[in-house]
Amino acid sequence: MRYIIGSDKYHVAGNWNGIWKAQAPHKARHLLWRLCRGCLPTRYRLLERRVECNPNCPVCDEEIEDELHIFFRCAVARDSWCAAGLSSVLHNGAYQQSNAMDRIFAMCSKDSSDTVGRVAMLLWCIWHNRNDKLWNDNVQLPRQIGRYAFDAWNDWYSVHKLQSNSVSGSTEADLVRWEKPDLGWVKCNVDVAFVPGSGRTSVGLCFRDNSGQFMAAFVPGSGRTSVGLCFRDNSGQFMAGMTQ
Ligand SMILES: [Zn+2]
Repeated sequence: MRYIIGSDKYHVAGNWNGIWKAQAPHKARHLLWRLCRGCLPTRYRLLERRVECNPNCPVCDEEIEDELHIFFRCAVARDSWCAAGLSSVLHNGAYQQSNAMDRIFAMCSKDSSDTVGRVAMLLWCIWHNRNDKLWNDNVQLPRQIGRYAFDAWNDWYSVHKLQSNSVSGSTEADLVRWEKPDLGWVKCNVDVAFVPGSGRTSVGLCFRDNSGQFMAAFVPGSGRTSVGLCFRDNSGQFMAGMTQ
């Protein structure tokens, strides 16, 4: 047991953290991981495991299908990269390693997690298209694959950002939650609006008792009421005042 745990036999060197940090849906990051682990059932991998099959790429039928071909060199893949707006990444001189795994690890090390995420989404779409062609005989044009990858990543990113903003927003809201005043006190909440450049201000006041019950509210200026407000800090020092 100790031998197995301490063994390097199952360890594959590489920037695995870069894959999991990629800004992309989990299914896309998982595909990157499977690709780099050599777990994707490309025709080359199947033959390696002695599964009899036609070795050619099911999309173009021109070359042996290995990871490098199906994701980087196949004519359909290359045009899809362009349609997804990622041709500069595909042609980047730093990412021309001789196998797909090394290319992906190089991207993870040198590019932003957003770009790696876009690439992951595109590779997921290329693989999905390959399977759709193989099993359902559905063929998509490269511009459809690239465009779908582009839109899917943008949609995912927008929702992901919204979700993380709403999580931090609720934390902030919890911190400023309204509390009842102490027994014998009345709490007055004030909201003030300033209209820049107009010289106009408006104010609203709401009074509640120590059980939190509404007592009164008014908006000065809407009737004949007038109000003066004086703001002081906790040392009693005058901070600001206004009259309406
Ligand atoms: Zn091909």
